[in-house]
Amino acid sequence: MNRISDDSSLFPIAPALVEWYALRGRDLPWRRTRDPYLIWLSEIILQQTRVRQGTAYFERLAARFPDVTSLASATEDEVLRLWQGLGYYSRARNLRAAAREVVARFGGRFPVRYDELRTLPGVGDYTAAAVASIAGGEPRAAVDGNALRVLARVFDLDLPVDTAAGRRAFAELAQQQLDAERPGVYNQAVMDFGATVCTPRQPACAECPLSGRCLALGAGTVGQRPVKGGRTKVRDRWFHYLHVCSNERTLLRRRGAGDIWQGLYEFPLIEREGATDYADLCGDACFTEWFAGAGTVRLLGTSVLPPHQLSHQTIHAVFYRIEAERFSAELLRDFLPVAADSLGDYAVSRLTERYLLGLQKGW
Ligand code: SF4
Repeated sequence: MNRISDDSSLFPIAPALVEWYALRGRDLPWRRTRDPYLIWLSEIILQQTRVRQGTAYFERLAARFPDVTSLASATEDEVLRLWQGLGYYSRARNLRAAAREVVARFGGRFPVRYDELRTLPGVGDYTAAAVASIAGGEPRAAVDGNALRVLARVFDLDLPVDTAAGRRAFAELAQQQLDAERPGVYNQAVMDFGATVCTPRQPACAECPLSGRCLALGAGTVGQRPVKGGRTKVRDRWFHYLHVCSNERTLLRRRGAGDIWQGLYEFPLIEREGATDYADLCGDACFTEWFAGAGTVRLLGTSVLPPHQLSHQTIHAVFYRIEAERFSAELLRDFLPVAADSLGDYAVSRLTERYLLGLQKGW
């Protein structure tokens, strides 16, 4: 096992990776441009998304918003709608907010300097370094999960990558390893190499240009690198959605700030501390308030979805299809009535989308 401070075991990896990238790097749409706006757009999309899924979204968003001005003038609803299905919706909100700042503060010229990029909403160290190096040639190492994995394995480092000390040490090491002459190419090479060769599971060590020097391969510790120290606590939540219909209309509400899915639409929601059933839900204070003036209320069906996994939460969701004689004043106070066949016009979470797809197929 090595510590990063043990410099004697370090050797430059850039030459082998840059050469590998020239021969094997993937041809992706955002690699055919030096436009910082398009590179930034691709980096935001790819933050939590695989390349295959992200490519379709990139092409759709780049076609609809070919430059930062067009994105800045879009409504949040439109951006969320185009983003639907990608998850981590704060990225979409920040995308539009950053575009508006670029127009307001930089006169529509997309910045290429790390320090300027870092001031934009949703742009952290990694994204700023990626855009600055690729579009601006600035010598900044972009350290994403791929880069961390490659460094931890090549140098067989046991320092946890998810602690403050680990992040600092890996950032320093990445900066030392950077090819300062070709920072953009080097950063893309490491990311591509990590995504296609030095993968999290079953890395292709037999085809790896670094296999002769890879310390983890020599030590038999590839499967244990990188080391993660901090444990992320996952919280369970139980969502009970009321898909209420009356006279071909249904009810939606836009989620507010301070919780998941901000800005997305959803059916009336009752959140409980655990699982429950419809009879119990009918006694809930919200339920009685909403439906006291709704006339006859009938349960038409219940859909229990498989647990929906977010990064720090597991959502256990049940959707109740309910028919009400009318929408009470309390329902109309709290929710927006919409035509039942216009639900596709509203940006919803992946969870609600799964329910609606299931409904089309006849749950
Ligand atoms: S030899 Fe294997 S573990 Fe080491 S860098 Fe190459 S692919 Fe990764």
